[in-house]
Amino acid sequence: MTTMNPKPLQQVLRSAGGHWVGDGFPVRTLFGYDGPLAPALSPFLLLDYAGPARFEPTTARRGVGSHPHRGFETVTIVYAGEVEHRDSAGGGGRIGPGDVQWMTAAGGLVHEEFHGSDFAGRGGAFEMVQLWVNLPARDKMGAPRYQGITAAQIPEVPLPGGAGTLRVIAGQYPAAAQDATRGPTQTFTPMQVWDIRLKANQPLELAVPNGYTTLAVVLHGRVAVDGAAEPLAPAQAALFERHGDGVRLRAGAEDATLLLLAGEPIDEPIVGYGPFVMNSEQEIRQAMLDFQAGKMGRLA
Ligand code: MN
Repeated sequence: MTTMNPKPLQQVLRSAGGHWVGDGFPVRTLFGYDGPLAPALSPFLLLDYAGPARFEPTTARRGVGSHPHRGFETVTIVYAGEVEHRDSAGGGGRIGPGDVQWMTAAGGLVHEEFHGSDFAGRGGAFEMVQLWVNLPARDKMGAPRYQGITAAQIPEVPLPGGAGTLRVIAGQYPAAAQDATRGPTQTFTPMQVWDIRLKANQPLELAVPNGYTTLAVVLHGRVAVDGAAEPLAPAQAALFERHGDGVRLRAGAEDATLLLLAGEPIDEPIVGYGPFVMNSEQEIRQAMLDFQAGKMGRLA
C-alpha cells in the first residue's frame, strides 16, 4: 500500500424503503437533496437504484410519462434491461446495458422515461441507477443538453493487481494523473463517475482529490470500508469526509459491483421541490409557473 491518507467514513447511507417511480422503476432512494446531508453530498443531489427486478413480457408501456425538470442533470446508468427516453428539447434515445444517458435539464425541459419496447416485449432482468447532479447557479438556466453515451464509448481500464475493472463514465482515472484515461462525458463541474467491478476478496485503493465529496455506492456483493461496523451490502453507500486523498475498499467473498462518485462541492444554497432544484424559494415558484405556462416545452 502507498502512503495514502484515506478519507474517513462519514456515514453509511441506506434506503428507507422502496417505492415505484411510475409503473416501470421499483427504486430504492439511497440519498436525496431534501435532508440535512444535502450540503455534504454536493454536487450530487439524489440517487435512485432501480431493481434488480424481473419483468414479465408486456405490450404495455412501463415507465413514467411526461414530467419536467429544471436546475440540474439526470444521469441514467443501465445495468440490465433498456430505457427509452425523449425530451422536449429534442434529446432522446434508447440505452441498454453498459450505456449511460447524461441529460442536462438546466433551464427546463419535459421528458418521459419508459422501458425500451423490445425489452418490454421479451421481459427479463431490469437494473439501473439514476443519479441527479446539481448545476452551479451560473448554469441552472442554461440550454438543455442530451449526451447519449454507449458502452463502447466508455473506456474500461484494469485495476492494479488484477483486482477487477473500472469504467470511466465521467472524469478521469486515475483522478490526479496527467496520463489518465478520460471519460466521454462533458460535465459542468469537476467530478469522477466510475463503474467498478471488484473481484472477491480484493482490496482497492483509489486516489480522490482532497476536498471532493466522495461516495462508494454498492450494487452487488459486499464492500468493506474502514470505520464501518460491517461490510456495506447492496443498496448501501459510504459517504466519506472530504479531507484526505483517497478511499480504501475491499470486496467480500463475492465479486462486487460499485459506483464511485466524487466531485468538487458546489458551495451554494440547495432549494428543491420535486423535479426542480434551484438556489431559492423564489426560483422554485418561478419554475412551477414556467412549467404551468408551457415554457419548459411539450412532448410532440
Ligand atoms: Mn425524469
